[in-house]
Amino acid sequence: MDPRRRLPSVDRLLQEPGVQALLAEAPRNLVVAAVREAVLAARSGRSPMPSDWVEEVAERVAQRVSPSLVPVLNATGVVLHTNLGRAPLASAAIAAVQAVASGYSTLELDLATGARGSRSDHCAALLASLTGAADGLVVNNAAGALVLALNAAADGREVLISRGELIEIGGSFRIPDILMKSGAILREVGTTNRTHLADYRDALSERTGAILTVHRSNFEQTGFVTSPEPAALASLASASGIPYLHDVGSGLLADLSPFGLVSEPRVADAVRHGADVVLFSGDKLLGGPQAGCLVGTSPWIGAARRNPLARALRADKMTLAALEATLALYRDPAAALREIPVLAMLTTGSAALEARAMALQDAIGPQAGAVVAPGFSAVGGGSFPGAVLPTTLVSLEPGPLGAAGLALRLRLGSPPVITRIEGGKVLLDPRTLPEQELGAVAGAVRAALADGS
Ligand SMILES: *Cc1c(COP(=O)(O)O)cnc(C)c1O
Repeated sequence: MDPRRRLPSVDRLLQEPGVQALLAEAPRNLVVAAVREAVLAARSGRSPMPSDWVEEVAERVAQRVSPSLVPVLNATGVVLHTNLGRAPLASAAIAAVQAVASGYSTLELDLATGARGSRSDHCAALLASLTGAADGLVVNNAAGALVLALNAAADGREVLISRGELIEIGGSFRIPDILMKSGAILREVGTTNRTHLADYRDALSERTGAILTVHRSNFEQTGFVTSPEPAALASLASASGIPYLHDVGSGLLADLSPFGLVSEPRVADAVRHGADVVLFSGDKLLGGPQAGCLVGTSPWIGAARRNPLARALRADKMTLAALEATLALYRDPAAALREIPVLAMLTTGSAALEARAMALQDAIGPQAGAVVAPGFSAVGGGSFPGAVLPTTLVSLEPGPLGAAGLALRLRLGSPPVITRIEGGKVLLDPRTLPEQELGAVAGAVRAALADGS
């Protein structure tokens, strides 16, 4: 007999005590949908006949109720991993979000006068004082900040940009496309590897609206290369009565040179060199929430603030709360390095990393064939592309699962652990694993290796 004729009916399954128990935990329509789906899948032959129908339904209910956006443990050692949500927030930032999100706030209220305030005031003074700029503005992200700055400065007019800076930052963010969508007109100057001040000067005309430089965040140019100093571009722009916009990308506020990290532009330097608008991300090296920050001169930040696009790109209260709290930590540079997770991870010493790797190896236990070995971490997120960060890795022997198989099990485990594969081994980098996560990672590794192998 065709086994499909032995399929239970939806009604009968719903009467099963096990399914009745599910009804106490999940909404009825959801359980009914899961039952229908299970029966349909078996009837169509898309999935094998379940040996335990209640378990089959329970699994489908669990799939439907489990959230899609969940925390993971980042064992890749890539500190700013865009796919993993970039910067983890500092405790102070999390507390600020919690406080503002769980009730009402002064988002657009001036307590002293009771009059309407502006949400863009909350971080403006801090941004200005930390960067040396006259004024600051926060929007949704740096891509948005660039669209806004270009539109405010050069709608319908030409923007001079070096051919060496017509770059792609990642997932559909290309400078020429952004520039076009902002309403500005792209005017390329120089060549891919060499652009001189004279190239900009020669391209200036009454149609020019701005000069733009964009930091090459995710790659390095070496060899026969040159580009003008930002200060020279700022002078040229100001002599021509147009603004100079500088997209520095990662929003480095701290001084990481004592740690050998020197290739990223610091926001304060870009301001000091005379850019009218410096723009950067909130969730890269700044270590805060997703946001786009603009700092610069009062007229140009003011123009951006009054631009209708600023409303379309505005940041929400949770972002502003997290950003204000993160920026506040920078008042004390030592506190910033300690409290802002991105900076703490980038500056963790090699002895601490080695100790963490050994503790992780110990916690995993002898069965997994875990070996401690020197290696390298990456900054990620389009920051310090050539940086070499020595670390100590825990290398796992995947056995019959193979490296891809073990990495998959670790991703699907609870909690999910994201790893790196190299030379047939699964690597765990303690740089991005705080002390208190080591136990959970070790447990996940043991479970992944034990599971059915
Ligand atoms: C990352 C980056 C951006 C985009 O930043 P988002 O905050 O992700 O929108 C823009 N410009 C540069 C130079 C960058 O590095």
